[in-house]
Amino acid sequence: MTESYDMIVIGAGSGGVSCARRAALLGAKTAIIESNEVGGTCVIRGCVPKKLTWYASQFSKIPELAKGYGWSFSKPIFDWPKFVESRHHEVSRLSQIYIGMLKKAGVTLIKGRASFKSAHQISVGNKIISGKHIVIAIGNEGILPDISGANHAMTSRQLFECETQPKHIVIIGGGYIGVEFAAILKELGSNVTLVIRRDLVLRGFDEMIREAVQSNLQESGVQICINSEVSRISKSKKDYDIHLQTNCNPIKTSQITADAILFAIGRKPDFGPLGLDDMGVKTAHGLVSIDKNYATSVPHIYALGDCANHKNLTPVAIAEGRDLSEKLFGKKRRIIDYDTIPTAIFSVPEAGTVGLSEDVALEAYPNDIICYQSQFKPLKYTLTDINKKSVVKLVVQKSTN
Ligand code: FAD
Repeated sequence: MTESYDMIVIGAGSGGVSCARRAALLGAKTAIIESNEVGGTCVIRGCVPKKLTWYASQFSKIPELAKGYGWSFSKPIFDWPKFVESRHHEVSRLSQIYIGMLKKAGVTLIKGRASFKSAHQISVGNKIISGKHIVIAIGNEGILPDISGANHAMTSRQLFECETQPKHIVIIGGGYIGVEFAAILKELGSNVTLVIRRDLVLRGFDEMIREAVQSNLQESGVQICINSEVSRISKSKKDYDIHLQTNCNPIKTSQITADAILFAIGRKPDFGPLGLDDMGVKTAHGLVSIDKNYATSVPHIYALGDCANHKNLTPVAIAEGRDLSEKLFGKKRRIIDYDTIPTAIFSVPEAGTVGLSEDVALEAYPNDIICYQSQFKPLKYTLTDINKKSVVKLVVQKSTN
């Protein structure tokens, strides 16, 4: 006999776990299916290990900072394998905590890869379960380009599994993931080359942030190849040759040799195993198409988080998961304002933003925008030789101030 649930959630990441827990706490009989470790991208191979690595990178600054305050240290040495092991322990501990939270809420956890058997039935291995409501929360995965030699490169998932520190890494992609890894790995002592398609990193962010982050990367010693793309990769003895094409007139070609390559050029959900087409669940531009209530083209099948929205952030997936369960089984619905989501970039130094960039604000409110901008040396640096500045900008609507 197939076991029946009020709700089946596919994917135990940020969105899936929050959705399943809230549903179960509201009294719904709930199952969650996970093919990897419980916790998903954020906990296992995203925000959490990244932030731990960012913290690791900050210790390299201490001798330089502390000198101005009367301290002296001998040359610091970073032990990559030791750090990777500690980070792995912490991530595993957090995964166990997530499992405990699901259990405590009364959610049934099923390990394995889910696929649709019928509109209300899900198969996992040789088990079949049925659900009144089904939620797709499968997240997404980093992609590799379709070029020769791409198999020699990593995505962020594999970078977190690297047992040895790259001596020279070429990172392709100027979005926040590429930028963060470039800044962090440079601080940890790797040589870093960042290859970006445009002339500035962080497309979509305010110009001030883009310029400040890029100049800080360059000052720290990250080599940035602008207007460039990788055309192919070849193996050379122990290293790899990365062949670049730079878009200028005439097009320039060049080659970089490195022992590690990271592509951070975008992420896509893996719908393959689910069999969405057979169920009539529509997708568009690589995402599940949903309405404002997270319903897909099949009304009892829902989707949320990275596989359905363009704001690939943990708090967004969590908020959507809780909201859907409140809609189905509770009363406390929340309206998510996708325009005012605060975002941080874990570059060195870090950057943060909320609301509209100047460009977008000017487009939305022509002739009605005023910007206030300031630069200052942080107090912490005043006793040191570090000459870094903090910058801050307010984008204000003139008529309402
Ligand atoms: P996920 O957390 O990806 O969970 C989906 C789960 O579904 C996975 O565990 C997967 O194994 C499982 N799954 C997939 N297919 C199946 C199947 N067929 N059957 C069963 N299980 C399946 N966000 C922030 O807010 N702040 C940050 O600092 C930040 N840093 C990041 C750094 C990196 C390197 C990356 C890659 C991401 C980062 N993110 C950050 C984004 C954040 O991790 C995601 O937005 C968030 O995890 C999305 O949650 P989700 O539930 O949609 O998907």
